[in-house]
Amino acid sequence: MIFRLLYPPKCIMCRTIMPLKTEICLCDECFENFEFLESSNCILCRKSVQCNCLEDFYFKGCYAVFGYDDLVSTLIKTAKYGGRPSYFRTFGSLMADFFAKNINENIDILSPIPLHKNRENKRGFNQSQILADKISELINIPIIDDLLIRKLDTKPQASLNLESRKNNVSDAFIFNNKYSVEAKVIMLIDDIYTTGSTINACSKELINRKAGKVISLSLSSTTMREKIMD
Ligand SMILES: [Zn+2]
Ligand SMILES: [Zn+2]
Repeated sequence: MIFRLLYPPKCIMCRTIMPLKTEICLCDECFENFEFLESSNCILCRKSVQCNCLEDFYFKGCYAVFGYDDLVSTLIKTAKYGGRPSYFRTFGSLMADFFAKNINENIDILSPIPLHKNRENKRGFNQSQILADKISELINIPIIDDLLIRKLDTKPQASLNLESRKNNVSDAFIFNNKYSVEAKVIMLIDDIYTTGSTINACSKELINRKAGKVISLSLSSTTMREKIMD
């Protein structure tokens, strides 16, 4: 509490001081700038009608709060590379809010997409874990942060085209044998959904271990750009 009095929460965009118990550190004015995705639309094709986008994937639900527009991408980059990991607590609160309003699933376990230890040590945090911790705290679903382990230090997905992305991550994850996920519904948490290769590689591991269902919730989602280029 003392810490909060000395360092009150501030709007992550304009630094306006916010009320002490604020979970979403965005003032009303800045909040207006965000464009939320339509929760009932498929985040891959953005269509509202039934589509086949997830047919070839191991995960059977896919949600994102925002598109990857200039505002969201700038904030994510600042948070990740500009030493502002606390932004992800605000984003995690937005995701929890989105979940409560839009996702009608009984989730047993939240599982953040792991970073390779080398990269996590270098960055000092795993953004997906901060997001998942906040969601877990606000909607009361247990998180297991080492359910999956990233065994390969893959190249950053952003630097690759679609085909290379798939190959880059397809064997990057292993299931942690300490746990059982039999018949469990698992929600994977990530900051940016692009082609689905990473989420799919994680989902494959979980389904192979008899998970009942895997869905994903990402903070943001890019459009089909990469697929169109392909
Ligand atoms: Zn503001
Ligand atoms: Zn679709």
